[in-house]
Amino acid sequence: MLEIGSHPHPKPHKEALYILLSNHLVLTQQQRYLFSFEDFHPTADMRSVYCGQLEGKDVFVCRFRQPPKGFTEQGLRELILTPDETTYSVLSRAHQLSTWDVDHQFCGRCGTPLKDKHDKEHTKICPRCNLRHYPRISPCVIVSVRKGNQLLLARNVNAPVGHFSNIAGFVEAGESLEQAVVREVQEEVGITIRNLEYMGSQPWSFPHQIMVGFFAEYASGEVTPAVGEIAEAGFWPVDELPNIPNPASISGKLVLAHQERIRSNLS
Ligand SMILES: [Zn+2]
Repeated sequence: MLEIGSHPHPKPHKEALYILLSNHLVLTQQQRYLFSFEDFHPTADMRSVYCGQLEGKDVFVCRFRQPPKGFTEQGLRELILTPDETTYSVLSRAHQLSTWDVDHQFCGRCGTPLKDKHDKEHTKICPRCNLRHYPRISPCVIVSVRKGNQLLLARNVNAPVGHFSNIAGFVEAGESLEQAVVREVQEEVGITIRNLEYMGSQPWSFPHQIMVGFFAEYASGEVTPAVGEIAEAGFWPVDELPNIPNPASISGKLVLAHQERIRSNLS
């Protein structure tokens, strides 16, 4: 796993490992995504951020506008949604830190250019008004709802036919995680829920969410998909679920864990 640590952040150096991005895409060679300094040529438009240490080596993420030659550009999703949790954590963090660096080049309050990063933490402090600019992390809730031995699944209007998932959404300003879960389920499928239970969380770097997962029980109402948002939704018996999300995502983990719970209660 990537060690985050709180020591001073080094500058890029020859013994470090490098993750290379071309805008939001990851540069790879035969699925390899960690490179040494000799593997690429730093360019004037390259932006680098220190990410932490992996097995004692400093790791940096570098973003190019014009990518160096000899690399394949791959989407983050296809690289991280594998059973390898180290790859997930390293690329998630690198991608989020690089997004912060690119998206905070000017102070949001007074417009002053933000040239320097803090040397011990990931923040840029405005030299004019002192406002701190941290990586943005957006909390989202995701919930698996059961009704007896059935699980709720929904298909977003943008998802291909046959691809179902859990109900999920962004937490609103001033809202608790629990309130967000109740509201999202009500808004998206028109039912009420009870007995919320925390399951786990997962960083979701598309571009900077933290997904917070819950189990819940159906309480009342008819499943009514929200027009323009949910194409279809319903309860499926745990042994006859349709195409469920990738098991490396928290959505897939939620469904599998809930399925397991219901089965062990039935046996
Ligand atoms: Zn400022």
